[in-house]
Amino acid sequence: MRATQNQGQDGKTDGKFTIDDQATKEIIELFLSTEESLNDKKINEVFSEHFFKSNFWLYWRTMFAFEEWHSAMEMRRYIMRFIHHLGGLPDLSALKFTKFNQYESLVLPLVAHLKANGVQFMYNTVVTDIETDISAGRKTAKKILYTQDGKAGTINLTENDFVFVTNGSITESSSLGDHKTPAKINTSPGGSWGLWKKLASKDPAFGKPDKFCGDIDKTKFVSATITTLDDKIPPYIEKICKRDPFAGTVVTGGIVSVKDSNWLLSWTLNRQPHFQKQGKNELVVWFYALFNDVPGNYVKKPITECTGIEIAEEWLYHMGVPENQIHDLAVNSTNTVPVMMPYVMSYFMPRALGDRPLVVPEGSVNLAFIGNFAETERDTVFTTEYSVRTAMEAVYTLLNVDRGVPETFASCFDIRVLLTATRQLLDGKKITEIKLPFILQWLERKGLDKAKGTFVHEMLEKSGLI
Ligand SMILES: Cc1cc2nc3c(=O)[nH]c(=O)nc-3n(C[C@H](O)[C@H](O)[C@H](O)COP(=O)(O)OP(=O)(O)OC[C@H]3O[C@@H](n4cnc5c(N)ncnc54)[C@H](O)[C@@H]3O)c2cc1C
Repeated sequence: MRATQNQGQDGKTDGKFTIDDQATKEIIELFLSTEESLNDKKINEVFSEHFFKSNFWLYWRTMFAFEEWHSAMEMRRYIMRFIHHLGGLPDLSALKFTKFNQYESLVLPLVAHLKANGVQFMYNTVVTDIETDISAGRKTAKKILYTQDGKAGTINLTENDFVFVTNGSITESSSLGDHKTPAKINTSPGGSWGLWKKLASKDPAFGKPDKFCGDIDKTKFVSATITTLDDKIPPYIEKICKRDPFAGTVVTGGIVSVKDSNWLLSWTLNRQPHFQKQGKNELVVWFYALFNDVPGNYVKKPITECTGIEIAEEWLYHMGVPENQIHDLAVNSTNTVPVMMPYVMSYFMPRALGDRPLVVPEGSVNLAFIGNFAETERDTVFTTEYSVRTAMEAVYTLLNVDRGVPETFASCFDIRVLLTATRQLLDGKKITEIKLPFILQWLERKGLDKAKGTFVHEMLEKSGLI
């Protein structure tokens, strides 16, 4: 089940997008907009209630953590970037996973590789500033200022020393609670936002961090790791995902969202064990809620005030556990650790062109920005790939490597993909059955007859649109 309701029952989304004519028109209009025309626009400024009541929006916002007040510009990039995956949204077939959690599957091997190649890591270190010389159209980083274990230090730089700054971080100032303690919010900008703010004060080309980190109420959410400790909860999981969670293969395949949850909660189990050291009888569930400031359906308080036990109780209620067993199972059959991430949705804040610095700002001699808050063409944030792409771009540019950065996947320029996506968005209806957006209207009126016997007609047939 991609969605549930009524305490563990099928949410009856039935793989459908339920997008009406008006909502279809709004999606196509967004797709056809220029990026510039969406400067600072929010999603709720380009979509109406027609769109927000669709299953499409339920799948979309729960899978990607979009809120109505987030960036329409980024929403458009997502639609274009993942258009070939639209058909996989309702059943999660679009998703791929690493074998274990991403720290063990990606970060540790990379760290080992880098160490073996002479990279020195400095832990407990915060870069507090980078002194720069900005004059005559040139921007040169001169000195790194940092504190290590609270002690100040500096690194002097020449023009042949390159500085790659990850400006901003969505996990900055995150704080953990535990089974019996809520995760307390930490509103400090921390090292990553602190450094970006310092740099931004030196030159407008270094971007506007406050656009992303300046409104924590719009960027925070609480998530939790729920570890089940015995055989009492797994049958409820199996009932919903129809797979044995201990089988060692993908379990839910992506998040399961609870349609009628006040918190709009979602949960997921990847392939188990998710951590190499996990006990054989344990399952690790990731849980998050999109609405942070409203009381739950079972636990009558907002998730931000909840202990791990209370979060587990709300989850078990929506899993269909009988109410007289919920407390006991939450306390004794789980270990639940909440985390408050004040900036987790900051990638999605409404932005205008220029709010993120270019990977290599104009005139920069030895300073580049990498990660999801550096500007690169067409790629979408909240992805590891964005960080990899900007890092490649930064290195190839500053070090003059004569090699192209692979293009962001270009499926939105493939007419076959566009036609198939259109059919999927229309829940399989033919173009003759719906009130058409203008391009398709034109196609139907003028084009279809003329197209007969051509490969355009063949493509339309193959896509299922006629
Ligand atoms: C809950 C969640 C789910 C996600 N799901 C997916 C997914 O399914 N697929 C996907 O592709 N991506 C996903 N992402 C996004 C992806 O994890 C991030 O985009 C990616 O990890 C960012 O990597 P990064 O190295 O650019 O930045 P970060 O991981 O933020 O790393 C930056 C590092 O630099 C450090 N730093 C910054 N400034 C300073 C300073 N001044 N001094 C010292 N240190 C500093 C920070 O402490 C941090 O360690 C998810 C993220 C989250 C939080």
